[in-house]
Amino acid sequence: MDCLFCKIIEGTIPSTKVYEDDVMYAFRDINPQAPVHVLVIPKLHIDSLNGVNAENSEVIRAIFEKIPEIAKAEGLDSYRLVSNCGPDACQTVHHLHFHIMGGRAMSGLMA
Ligand code: 5GP
Ligand code: ZN
Repeated sequence: MDCLFCKIIEGTIPSTKVYEDDVMYAFRDINPQAPVHVLVIPKLHIDSLNGVNAENSEVIRAIFEKIPEIAKAEGLDSYRLVSNCGPDACQTVHHLHFHIMGGRAMSGLMA
């Protein structure tokens, strides 16, 4: 499958790893929007939040359990979590991902 984030998981495209286990991979965003900007992705290819269902939601549970640990390890106890879904939200990579952003004060809502 021609998916950038699947290639990052495979290691054919390099990335800076923050955390990895059997179900997820976390790495630094190449174009950080905050002092800390980590992307957390399931190893299972899911196109977007719209692809989450009863068969694969276990990986989402695992990711959400891990996000506070990843944030804490990055020195964050206050941060923003974002997942852009579809064109109106400007999703550019069609492999589900969660942005963890922190380390600066943010405006009320991302434009
Ligand atoms: P989206 O716009 O789909 O919500 O987020 C995609 C994110 O992936 C963007 O923040 C972008 O900077 C990041 N990104 C795109 N290509 C690469 C890459 O090759 N390596 C890394 N580490 N991040 C990438
Ligand atoms: Zn993928």
